[in-house]
Amino acid sequence: MSNEVDIPCPECGHENSQRVAWVKANDELPCEQCGSAIALEDEKHLLVIEQATHNITKLRRSLARFRNYTPGTTRKRR
Ligand SMILES: [Zn+2]
Repeated sequence: MSNEVDIPCPECGHENSQRVAWVKANDELPCEQCGSAIALEDEKHLLVIEQATHNITKLRRSLARFRNYTPGTTRKRR
C-alpha cells in the first residue's frame, strides 16, 4: 500500500504530502516550503485513528453485502 497523508506545516501552512510508512518511521518532517521541522507525534496518533476507521468502514461494507445477500428470501415460491 502507498497511502499518503497531507501534513500541514504549523509555520507556513504548506501541506506536505508524505507516505504513511515514512511518517511512521520518522519523528520529524522538514517542510518543503520553509524548511522548519514538523513534529510527527500528533500525526501518528491521527494515522492510527484513520486506519481504525478504515477498517470499520470495510467491516460495515461487508456486513451490508451480507445483509443484501440472504439466500431464500429472494427466491420466488410457487
Ligand atoms: Zn513550512
